[in-house]
Amino acid sequence: MEHFDFVLIGGGIVGSSLYYKLAMAYPEAKIVLLEKESALATHQTGRNSGVIHSGLYYKPGSLKARTCIDGYAQMLDFAQEHGVKHEVCGKVVAALGGKEEAQLETLRLRGAENGLSGIRYLSPEELQEREPYLRATKALMVPQTGIINYADAAEAMLRVGRGAVRLKTEVTGFTQEGVKTTQGEVRGKHIIACAGLQSDRTAQLDGVDAGLRIVPFRGDYYELSLRAQAKVRHLIYPVPDPNFPFLGVHFTRMVHGGVECGPNAVFSFAREGYSKTAFNASDAFAALGYLGTWRLFAKHWRYGLGEYQRAFSKAKFLEALQRLIPTLESSDLQPGRAGIRAQALRPDGSLEDDFVLHQGNRAFHVLNAPSPAATASLAVADEIVRQALA
Ligand SMILES: Cc1cc2nc3c(=O)[nH]c(=O)nc-3n(C[C@H](O)[C@H](O)[C@H](O)COP(=O)(O)OP(=O)(O)OC[C@H]3O[C@@H](n4cnc5c(N)ncnc54)[C@H](O)[C@@H]3O)c2cc1C
Repeated sequence: MEHFDFVLIGGGIVGSSLYYKLAMAYPEAKIVLLEKESALATHQTGRNSGVIHSGLYYKPGSLKARTCIDGYAQMLDFAQEHGVKHEVCGKVVAALGGKEEAQLETLRLRGAENGLSGIRYLSPEELQEREPYLRATKALMVPQTGIINYADAAEAMLRVGRGAVRLKTEVTGFTQEGVKTTQGEVRGKHIIACAGLQSDRTAQLDGVDAGLRIVPFRGDYYELSLRAQAKVRHLIYPVPDPNFPFLGVHFTRMVHGGVECGPNAVFSFAREGYSKTAFNASDAFAALGYLGTWRLFAKHWRYGLGEYQRAFSKAKFLEALQRLIPTLESSDLQPGRAGIRAQALRPDGSLEDDFVLHQGNRAFHVLNAPSPAATASLAVADEIVRQALA
């Protein structure tokens, strides 16, 4: 039986970044990446907004803030060096009214504290010139924001790292020597799990109870018609609700063309089911049998209801978008894809805000890596190497 120095679980952007970093740091090491699906990046990594985030939103000093800013620079360097299509197009965050303007100022200060340069308010004339269709009483320009396709980036990382990838290989348990999989045992010294939507279950297999449960939140997108695409020049974001780690429905130009709007954030009855009515009994039972989920519902039912309405009513979704671009019409929106966020929830109903890395019994686990973990992935990989190999 083959014996590896590193066994990585999960072929999303975090597992791929880690593969790349390990391959660069230890060129002689034998590394294998195990992925349960028949292709890489089929879950969060292949179903996100594709934004290289600046680090504007995150609590200064948090792992999210540190790795996002570092990861932003590393992702751009990697993309440039290895020919992954990307663009630094900048984004505009739009406030409407006094309350949102105050929150925008908090964001600006936070961005400055996180070390972002060049963020500034646009004058009404500049706003008119840059985003003539956008309605805002105040708008913040964040030049350090880009777009990329993270599935392309993951594929390039494994190509450059000459990745040994085993697809259709699901890890089902841990042994003294390695992991049990659907294709037999794989032995290895260091095991690192980057299992996204399944991270709590993988940790449980390793006997870890970190006091967190993954609760899936689906995000639906619409695509803008060709005519309406001309109304979006940068990326356009609303001021996010400070109580949630979700950014609110926004307009995102995609690196391979087109403009998407979304995603909303609705509780999902399936971790890996992407239709609006997808249901998986074991996922639903895991989420609804967890006290934290009910506490979250009780605290935020009004927000949840709004998001559900937007999920099932195009008119409501359009209303949210028209707050930013009032001239959009229903015929401008075509149904697009959906993604599901892996969001860790604590038993008290609070959403875990930061990334969570945890040394388990046999493996090291990435327990919470929601947005901006794709942006931050190369820096998160550095952090994993630092902690797991300490
Ligand atoms: C709608 C949406 C929009 C987002 N927008 C952005 C954005 O614009 N910018 C940004 O930076 N971030 C964004 N994010 C967040 C980002 O996509 C995630 O943080 C990132 O993709 C997490 O990567 P990952 O590798 O941890 O997870 P994943 O991409 O989900 O990969 C985990 C992999 O592990 C595999 N796996 C699980 N269990 C096992 C097992 N037992 N055995 C083998 N394989 C297993 C899965 O099949 C999967 O391929 C967004 C996320 C969503 C859902």
